[in-house]
Amino acid sequence: MNKIAENWYPSREAALSRLNDFVPRAGRSYQSHRNEDLGEGQHKWVSGLSPYFRYGLLEEAEVIKAVLAQHSAEAANKFIEEVSWRSYWQGWMMMHPQIWLDYHSDVADRLTSMQQDIELAECYHNACQGQTGIDCFDSWSREMQQTGYLHNHARMWFASIWIFTLQLPWQLGADLFMRRMLDGDSSSNTLSWRSVAGLHTRGKHYVATAENIRRFTHGRFNPVGQLNEQAESMYEITMRPAIREIPAAGEVHGRVGILATEAFCNLNGLVEAYQPVALGVLDTTEARSPGSVSQQVSRFSQGALLNLTECSPQPLTLMQLATLETQFCEWVQSHQLDSVLLLGVCPGIHQLVISQMIAGLPEGSRPHICYHQSEWQRALWPHAQAGFYKFRQQLPALLERLSAT
Ligand SMILES: Cc1cc2nc3c(=O)[nH]c(=O)nc-3n(C[C@H](O)[C@H](O)[C@H](O)COP(=O)(O)OP(=O)(O)OC[C@H]3O[C@@H](n4cnc5c(N)ncnc54)[C@H](O)[C@@H]3O)c2cc1C
Repeated sequence: MNKIAENWYPSREAALSRLNDFVPRAGRSYQSHRNEDLGEGQHKWVSGLSPYFRYGLLEEAEVIKAVLAQHSAEAANKFIEEVSWRSYWQGWMMMHPQIWLDYHSDVADRLTSMQQDIELAECYHNACQGQTGIDCFDSWSREMQQTGYLHNHARMWFASIWIFTLQLPWQLGADLFMRRMLDGDSSSNTLSWRSVAGLHTRGKHYVATAENIRRFTHGRFNPVGQLNEQAESMYEITMRPAIREIPAAGEVHGRVGILATEAFCNLNGLVEAYQPVALGVLDTTEARSPGSVSQQVSRFSQGALLNLTECSPQPLTLMQLATLETQFCEWVQSHQLDSVLLLGVCPGIHQLVISQMIAGLPEGSRPHICYHQSEWQRALWPHAQAGFYKFRQQLPALLERLSAT
């Protein structure tokens, strides 16, 4: 059995089983120990639920409800906040789609220009293969390659060393994560890399230090003298327009088709609720990067998508990115759809793919396009307009509503 299959199996049952195992540790022990990275296969202080969130095999509300059944909101406060960071980044990306567009074209440009720059290409290759000579960094690079996962603190250290010590472009590091991490998410990943670089909150960057790494890896690593600990924040002058309102979810009518992306691999009562005449699946895994994703990410995506096939009461039309415009158009026309409900729209990546897909439909024959948003997303996304600390003020009211249902 490979290391991915050992740790993360892409099914709803495996997701629930991991959740059940973790819930007793979601309270004060998470709060006290969540920053400790004990090394590959030893991540007992954190949940390891991120691949399941990413593929919609678990939803935020059900996870928080399960946690609150065993802990007070106060004891589980840190865990709840961490889960809501994911929603903060998604809301932010939803309102700043240009960040993904710019990032995506920057990655493509930098991968191409690297072909002319031997020094950069060598440094990039060594970082990707875990051959930089900085033990901790090399070990995380290999762990990510083998397992498709890294602890949050390791991601921060890795990104910081990539940007400030190795002086590699942040976009290529973010791209490496998108290709290798099971949980690779256009919002959390792009915006976390920007945050480490100091591009999210101007001038506020994250500098990894040897002492912090030694302390939180329990002395496994101590890269004294190997890191640039005096680095200055990156900055950019590009101003990107923000959309001030999250696009409305809309209401379906007439003949309804449901189109789920791989980010929503559990139909969860929606077929019963909407009675669609057609069901489609869109796998956007390849859109994570202009390059190719790792085999482990591909396999996990394919496995997760099987859950949709299994829980669907009718045959699913599988749509491929390469032929999406034509396939979507045929699907809409052959089923005479009045409305299409999209499930699992990841801000950034999917806004781009979906706008291209819709643009392929002839004017006049476009169905009404609606977006499914969970109550959790509806409550939080619109508030991701300033810093996280203002955003998290929405949590108490949301938790109260959740506990009443
Ligand atoms: C440079 C960098 C890149 C990242 N890329 C991704 C990514 O592509 N996909 C992704 O899901 N997370 C990403 N994160 C956030 C975080 O590292 C992971 O969500 C977390 O490590 C997943 O492990 P876990 O499920 O054991 O986390 P736990 O600590 O158990 O947290 C529970 C859940 O809360 C959410 N969460 C926790 N911390 C964060 C955070 N800082 N930001 C956003 N959500 C959080 C995740 O959904 C996670 O599953 C990134 C962080 C950094 C610094």
